[in-house]
Formats: sequence, C-alpha cells, structure tokens
Amino acid sequence: MTLDHEEATKRAEKLREKINDLDYRYYVLDEPGVTDAAYDSLARELKAIEAEYPELVTPDSPTRRVGGAPLDKFRKISHSTPMLSLNDAFSQTEVQQWLERIGRLEEKALSSELYCELKMDGLACSLLYRDGVLERAATRGDGTVGEDVTANVKTIDAVPLRLRGNVSGEIEVRGEVYMPYDSFEKLNDQRQKDGEQLFANPRNAAAGALRQLDSKLTAKRDLSFMAYQLLCDPEPKYHHLEHQELESLGFKAGTNHNKLVGNLDEVFTFQRRIIDLREKLPYQIDGIVVQIDDRDLFAELGVIGKAPRAAIAYKFAPKEATTKLLDILIQVGRQGTMTPVAVLEPVEVAGVTVSRATLHNEDEIKRRGIKIGDTVIVRRAGDVIPEIVGAVEQLRTGREKEFHFPKTCPVCGSPIERKVGEAAFRCTNKSCLGSRILQLRHFTTKAAFDIVGLGSKVIDKLYDAGLISDQADIYQLKAGDIAGLEGFGEQSAENIIEAIDARRKVGLRQFLYGLGIRHVGVETAEAVTQKFRDFTKVRHATLENLQDVPDIGPIVAKSIHEYFTHTENQHLVDRLLKEVKIEIPRTLRQAQGPLTGKSIVFTGTLETMTRPEAQQKARELGADINDSVSKNTNFVVVGTNPGSKADKAQKIGIQVLNEEDFLKLLTND
Ligand code: NAD
Repeated sequence: MTLDHEEATKRAEKLREKINDLDYRYYVLDEPGVTDAAYDSLARELKAIEAEYPELVTPDSPTRRVGGAPLDKFRKISHSTPMLSLNDAFSQTEVQQWLERIGRLEEKALSSELYCELKMDGLACSLLYRDGVLERAATRGDGTVGEDVTANVKTIDAVPLRLRGNVSGEIEVRGEVYMPYDSFEKLNDQRQKDGEQLFANPRNAAAGALRQLDSKLTAKRDLSFMAYQLLCDPEPKYHHLEHQELESLGFKAGTNHNKLVGNLDEVFTFQRRIIDLREKLPYQIDGIVVQIDDRDLFAELGVIGKAPRAAIAYKFAPKEATTKLLDILIQVGRQGTMTPVAVLEPVEVAGVTVSRATLHNEDEIKRRGIKIGDTVIVRRAGDVIPEIVGAVEQLRTGREKEFHFPKTCPVCGSPIERKVGEAAFRCTNKSCLGSRILQLRHFTTKAAFDIVGLGSKVIDKLYDAGLISDQADIYQLKAGDIAGLEGFGEQSAENIIEAIDARRKVGLRQFLYGLGIRHVGVETAEAVTQKFRDFTKVRHATLENLQDVPDIGPIVAKSIHEYFTHTENQHLVDRLLKEVKIEIPRTLRQAQGPLTGKSIVFTGTLETMTRPEAQQKARELGADINDSVSKNTNFVVVGTNPGSKADKAQKIGIQVLNEEDFLKLLTND
C-alpha cells in the first residue's frame, strides 16, 4: 500500500508513538506489549515509510536509536565503542539484497567469506577485563551509555571471573546474557505459585534478572552467557578467530554450531540446518547473524543508522505480522452458520502470504475491539488457519468503521437467528446455500475452468473455512490461507495456487459454461461462443440476438439474458474479468462441415487425443456433441473402458465408431 505524503506523515507519527511505547515496555519494564514478530512488523512499516519519504525521519525515530535508556537505579557506564544493534532480514531475497547493497559500496564484500552464528535471544552485555580479571559489566542501554550490572553478572557461572591463560592489559568481551529454557520454566512456575505476573519469554526474564538491585536475586535465576565479540589490541583479523579466541579465554562462543562459509547458498544451507536444530537447543534463538568475516572490511563498511552495514540478523519467519483489515465478510456455512471473516491486505506470515483470517463470531469481534480499517495483528501458528490476535488501537486514524452484524442472511435475505447459548448466528432458510455451493463446485470442473486439485471436497473445505464465497474469490486465495486447512500443508497449498494461476486464461466456451448459467451446458456455451466470439458481445446481447443463436430456444436465451442483467452477476463477472483473460478459439465451427447436423456421443478413453480435443475437432466440423445416447444420436465414438453408453448405442441400433473410424471421419477419408 503506498501512502501519499500527508497520509505517510500521519502514519509515521503514529507508528513512532506506538513503537516508542512498546520500546519502553520492553526495555524498561521488561514487559512486552506485543510479540517480537508484531513489533518487528510495525518497525518494518516505519522503516519502509522512512525509506520512501526520507524527510520524515526524525532524529528520535526508533529506527535510529538503539534499545532503551539506562535506568537511573544503576550507575551509568559509557561504552568506549558504541554497542550497536543489527539490521534484520526475513527472507533469502532480503539477505541477498543486503549483500548486493554492501557490494555496491565495497566490491570485495561480494567475494568475502561470511561468518554465520546463532542469534541468541537475550540481552547484550559488555564485560571489561583488566589483566585477565573481570572488572566491570554493563548492559547495552542506549548503545552509548549502559547500566553497571557488575555484581549481578558475577553470579553467572558462564562468565569467567578470571580469564584462562596469561592475559595482560584491557580487553572487552561482548555477548548475550540469556536464560536457558529450563531456568525460564522453573522461574515462571515459581511466579505462578507466588501469584506473580509471568514473564512473556526467556529474553524478558533474562533482562529482568540481570537488572535486579539485589544480586542475590540474579543468582537464583540461572542466567548464562554466550560471547560473540572480542575487543582487544591487536584485534584478530577475522571474526571467526575472535570466536576461537573467546573460547580459549574460557567463554562459550558457539563454535560447535557456527560456520565460516564462502557464499550465500552456504548461508542458506546453514540457516536451514539451524531451523531444524532450533527446537532441540536448550535456549531461545531468534535467527542467525551473518557477517563479513574480514574485520578490516567490516570496519570500512561502517555503520548505517543504529547498526553495522557488514552484518545482518537473518531472523526466522515470524508467526505474526501486522496488516490492514480491509473488510469483514459474512460467510454462511453449509449448515447455515454465519462466520465473520477478515479480508486482509495480503501479508506474509510464517513464510506464506495470507489474505483472509477467521474472526470466529460477533462476540469475538467485540471482545477484541476490532474495527474495519484497523491495523491488526495476524497470527499463523503451525498448521492452524490464520487468526486475528487483535487491533493496534494506537494506530487508528478515526476513519475506522464499527462492524455491524447483518440482520438478514447475506446470501438469501432470510431472517437469521441465534439460539440461546450459541455464539453463532444461523440463516433460518434450510436450503439457503445449496445453489451457491453447487455453482462453486461446477466452476472448477473439467469442462469449465478445469482447476486441478479443486474438486468438490476441497471447494467445500475452502467454503467452510470462509475463504471463498463466490467464483472470483478463488483467484484471491493465497497459499497461507489454505496451508492451515485440515489435510493441507504448505506444499499442497502452493500446488493449488499454481493450478489456479494456470487457469488465468480460459476459452470463451469454458468461461460461459463455468458461470453456471441456468440451462447453459457445454453445447449451448459452444454455440454462443461460435456466434459471438467476444465476451462483451455476449454479456450485452439482446434477447433477440440470443434467440438467433442456432439451437438456442427462447427459454435458454431468456436465462442467459437474465443472468447478465442481474447486478450481483455483473459484479461477479467484472471481478472475474480482472483475474482471467478470455481466449477466443482460432477456428470457427464450419457452418457447412462434413459433420454438420450430426449428433455425436463419446465414451471411454481415446489414445491419440484427449476427449475434449476430440470433441472440439468434431465441433469444428459442425457436429453437435451430446452427453447421452438417444435415438437422435448419429454416432457413438467408443474408446477403451467405455461406459454403459456403448451398450445402449448397440441396443437401440446407433452406429458405433472406434477411434480409427472416428479419425477417418475427421479427415473425411
Ligand atoms: P536485535 O535483537 O534484533 O539484534 C541485535 C542484538 O542481537 C544485539 O544487540 C545482540 O544483543 C543480539 N545478538 C544475539 N546474538 C548475537 C550474535 N551472535 N552476534 C551479534 N549480536 C547478537 O535488535 P535489538 O536492537 O537488540 O532489539 C530489537 C528487537 O527487540 C526487535 O527486533 C524486537 O524483536 C525486540 N523488541 C520487541 C519489543 C516488543 O514489544 N515485543 C519491543 C522492542 C524490541
């Protein structure tokens, strides 16, 4: 969604306000207001606006600042070298773009070795050692000034109070203080017993534990430390050597997992391996850090905003994202149950794009206080269908609209009812939905839009999940909408989307037949196609024009004419035309062909061509194709494994042709 300058100014202001508020809760109170994924989504939106309108960047924008201000209750410590943050990427493309970007500044970067390491989810800490003895420990704070947490850090077993080996002079070690999962669980269990508020995640628990005024409390919380940076003189020339050196000094520095690689493909292989490993690790990580291994080049590339250019945090696909709620539709299920469904501006969640999410029922919308036009948080966890977590109310503009549940059924107009004790409304008309479902099932069949994999069972599932309510909705589906449905995974969802995309071009006959107009079978659709050869002409044809089509009587003509005069159908057709290109057959049916006036029925499988191809060829020579055998049938063409039609033909004395005879007929031999 691109915003004009005025909208962007307002939106950026609101985003800054919201993000500052979240930062305060996260960095100062250690009580996050939303998940990191939702926070990152808002921060990305602000960054995108600032990239488009650089004049909107304010010096205090959260995109420019590191972390939060140090708390007054601690002595303040200035960092001799700023403690920076990292820029993040969420996909391979973004990592690639990062390398290309720095490659444009320093070409050497493109062929430089890259060091990949775990991104620990804790808080950064600087440890200062003099002559091998821990002298001082500080949090990152705002990057320039941190908090003195020496007494607390001394309680962490993984932080050596004295370095191994003979070390003289001053060295600084930077790394992450974190809380392993088992300590986190123990802590939260105890808090629950004591009736205290639980920590949202190990990162916040670690931050809370490290910033205690009483170090005896820190000692009880079982923190740990992973080192990732060594500042000393002279500095190692390569980052991977820093890690090795850190381990020989007595730190954990992750060299058993980390890897030095030669190119991005190897980075991606490393990342996939870490995704598999993630669940088995005893601590929380939120991605990997990739950086230029050569320290001179790293320094030359410098800093942009609040992060070094030469490193990137490649974070795991977030399970939540923020997006705009465009509308709320009412889905009437096959049992008449009415479910509100959120129509979203498409957004990537957990690696797939999502455009719809369930809102369960009216109470749920009220409880979550959601309005149309809101910025909402969408969650897609594992294999469940996407859902709306809630609205980000601070981002409202005043133009959001309250949602009102309809008083009548949006499908058939009948009254609706809500039984005592039930959350959902139902349509009182028992046969309300039959026709709509049938139309949807018909649309994807072979003779119509022929969408592979979208058989009637799948259509029903998509319908019940509120993902489609008419034919045009099929073209709006995104893999993430389907992947959570029972029996589907990401791959099968992608396959369905591919199959749908493969049918963004259809013949005029298939299009007309697919609309499911009453009395319009394949042959009628074909006759109309032959006559008009242009969809615009068909939809605007007068009743008389339609009656002129050979083989179309007044009832069929009226049905077609009425279909296109109905506003709802016009709207549907317009939406379909935005998604689908109609192709006109190159060959016209011969007005006087060798098969003119002959009625042909096909049964069984042909070897040299598919049945639709054979039917099309026969049509072009003037034949009428019928589905069932009657005394008016001229030929029945029989392939292998024929059905009962072959028997019936023989019984009533209709001429039966095998494939060879049929081919002869086509070539008029
Ligand atoms: P960050 O956590 O995205 O990345 C930078 C940090 O990664 C470093 O400062 C360091 O502490 C850490 N890190 C871990 N392993 C590392 C390694 N191997 N090498 C180098 N650094 C490593 O950035 P940030 O500035 O610390 O925090 C911003 C993030 O905090 C946001 O992206 C968001 O996820 C979270 N946050 C959440 C909320 C909320 O409301 N939920 C609010 C503010 C911030």
